[in-house]
Amino acid sequence: MEHRIVKVLIVYAHPEPRSLNGALKEFAVEHLRSAGHEVEVSDLYAMQWKAALDSADNTARAAGTRFDPSLDSRLAYENGTQAPDIAREQDKLRWADALILQFPLWWFSMPAILKGWVERVYACGFAYGVGEHSDTHWGDRYGEGMLAGKRAMLVVTAGGWESHYAPRGINGPIDDILFPIHHGILYYPGFDVLPPYVIYRTGRMDSERYARIRLGLGQRLDALWTTPPIPFRRQNHGDYLIPELTLRPGLAPGGAGFGIHVDAQAGASVDRP
Ligand code: FAD
Repeated sequence: MEHRIVKVLIVYAHPEPRSLNGALKEFAVEHLRSAGHEVEVSDLYAMQWKAALDSADNTARAAGTRFDPSLDSRLAYENGTQAPDIAREQDKLRWADALILQFPLWWFSMPAILKGWVERVYACGFAYGVGEHSDTHWGDRYGEGMLAGKRAMLVVTAGGWESHYAPRGINGPIDDILFPIHHGILYYPGFDVLPPYVIYRTGRMDSERYARIRLGLGQRLDALWTTPPIPFRRQNHGDYLIPELTLRPGLAPGGAGFGIHVDAQAGASVDRP
C-alpha cells in the first residue's frame, strides 16, 4: 500500500468467531492497523443486524399507506428518517476509502445477513436512483455514483475446490458466480472493484496452508491501493447504447454474457491462494 493512511471498512458475515472466517478477519484487522491504517468492522452477526428490508426502515411513514420499498427508502434517506442502523452503516461507507466484504460462500452467494445489509444500507438516493438521465447519461452508476473513488474487495471462503469453479468447472466460473456482487453491488454505486481473494476447499486446512493463506491475504491488503481494479466498462462513456444499455455492436463482437462487461484489453488477474 502507498504510505497514505487508508480507512478500511470490513463488513463481515460469519456467526462463529472461532471459524476460519473469524480468524482471517482478526488477522486482517491487525495487519491493517499495524500498517498504520484505520479500520472499522461491521460484524453483522455480533451486531444482530436486521436482515429484512421492511416498512420499519422508514421511521416516519404515514399510518396505513402502502409500503413502497424504493419510494420509502428514498423519502427516509432524503428526510433523515431512516432507521438509525442504516444511517450508521452509510456513514461508515462515506468514511471509508476501501470496503472489504468478507463471508463464506453459502449457496453460491453471500449469507442472507450480508445480502440484507446491502438491501437496507444501499438506500434509494444513496446507492441507486442517483444522477440525471439523458441521451448520453443513464444515471450515476456502473463506474459513477456516491461511492466512486473508493475501492472494494471480496474475501470469500468456499468449500468447493478451485477446479470446481474453473472456467469449465461444474459450479460455474468463480468470476461468473461473483459477478452479481462485483458488478451489480459494488461497481453499480461506483466502487473500483479489485479481484477477489478466494480461499477454496476449506475442509482441507492445515497449519501450513493456513499460514500461506494468511500471507496471501496480508499481501492483498498491502496492495489494496495499488492492485489494478477489474476493468469493468463504464456505462456513460461510450461503450453502451443509451437507452438500450446494450454493449455497442463493435465491442466484443459475437460475445454475450457477463464477460463482455469487462474490457479485455485492460486485463486484470485474479489471485488464488
Ligand atoms: P470453518 O469451518 O470454521 O473452518 C474450515 C477449516 O479451517 C477447518 O478445518 C478448520 O479447522 C480450519 N480453521 C479454522 N480456523 C483456523 C485457524 N485459525 N487456523 C487454522 N485452521 C483453521 N461451499 C461452496 O463451495 N459453495 C456453496 O455454494 C456453499 N454453500 C454453503 C451453504 C451453507 C448453508 C453452508 C453452511 C456451507 C456452504 N458451503 C458452500 C461451504 C462453505 O463455503 C464453507 O463451509 C465455508 O466457506 C468455510 O468457512 P468457515 O469460516 O465456516 O470455516
